[in-house]
Amino acid sequence: MSFTISKWFNNHQAPSVLMIDDLSDAYIETYKEAYKNDWGYLCKEENSVYSFLEKELLNKFPSIKITFFVPYLKHNVISEKGKKSYKKYGVGERIEFSNFLKHLIKEGHEIAHHGSNHGQYIDTSNPSTVNNFKHEWELFENVDEGVEVTKKGIETFKEHLNVEIKGGKFCGYKQRENSLEIIDKSKFDYWCEDVNYNTKNYTATKFGEENIISFPTNFSGNAFVRLSYSTGDKHKDRKKQFTKYLQPLYDISQYKALNNLYTSGNIISIQEHISPATSSGITQSANIVSDITSLQKIYNYLSNKSIWYATCQDIADYIYAVENTDIYIDNEEIVLKFNNYKNLENITISINDKEYFEFFSQEKHYVSKKNNHKYTVNIPIVNGENRYRVEREHKI
Ligand SMILES: [Zn+2]
Repeated sequence: MSFTISKWFNNHQAPSVLMIDDLSDAYIETYKEAYKNDWGYLCKEENSVYSFLEKELLNKFPSIKITFFVPYLKHNVISEKGKKSYKKYGVGERIEFSNFLKHLIKEGHEIAHHGSNHGQYIDTSNPSTVNNFKHEWELFENVDEGVEVTKKGIETFKEHLNVEIKGGKFCGYKQRENSLEIIDKSKFDYWCEDVNYNTKNYTATKFGEENIISFPTNFSGNAFVRLSYSTGDKHKDRKKQFTKYLQPLYDISQYKALNNLYTSGNIISIQEHISPATSSGITQSANIVSDITSLQKIYNYLSNKSIWYATCQDIADYIYAVENTDIYIDNEEIVLKFNNYKNLENITISINDKEYFEFFSQEKHYVSKKNNHKYTVNIPIVNGENRYRVEREHKI
């Protein structure tokens, strides 16, 4: 038998997700252009940050899928003591924002967990997050408290968006000794626990009793502007006057890193934040506004490649399908035996072969199509045996 389960959906070479952190019902009066101040408060309005993203990126590359990491309470990075005036609300406080998040899901994007309020300032009179902010999961003294606050987020999204949150990310990628246990007990399918840019190899690792997929963060959205854009911090910007000349050289290393991820069939997960505006007035490091030309370069580079554009959840579901499905021949039928021990719904698996083939079951008929050099079918599978008769001839 020559049929094999594809490593990624539709036999694509690699999956790619754009991860945007801190989408919130918030706005900080910092710049004269409204979209730069917007963390999500303006929803889909013409001058919103989302409209900017649509115009500059999503309309140009409509296949992109985004996982938005959304804190469910008022975002504490936005400080009362900051120099800037602001608006901020929790999820469920304004119906416009809930409708906006629902719209994003309808567009094929994902809303994921990103804590309650993101954490708190150590010195509250100084609204600079650099060394003066303890992130959410660094603060839970005991597991039960952490589980309660984390599960409340799952319930909040269920209540206001009618959606099951399947994964999330540690705020600031910061954790302490009990953090993974909190995530495990809150029963997620995947979690972004660590950031590791430009790694060559990634194999899905798991943690906890729930076998939670540790989802990688391996490419920065600002890769192609990192050395050149101004931050609003005088000291840093003075340095950038010199480092900007190194950006073309740095670009070469970044294309190489991107190519490494692609050719080795790794997840390409591109890390960003929603807004440049902060309470201290310093530009948020890695944000979709400052990094837009970098993001355009990334997606231009990927556009002629065999990329599966997917959300973190899509990718986690597919990893689960591959790891829990056996393929074999029995009574001249091909059998996909799926052990769906987590009872996940809408699971699809891709099967490929060098030669053309069709699969038949009593109700279904799948015709293979060539993708990434192999004939491929994408088949929804259920727990237990999924059996198909195989035909090799083209049927008219
Ligand atoms: Zn965050």
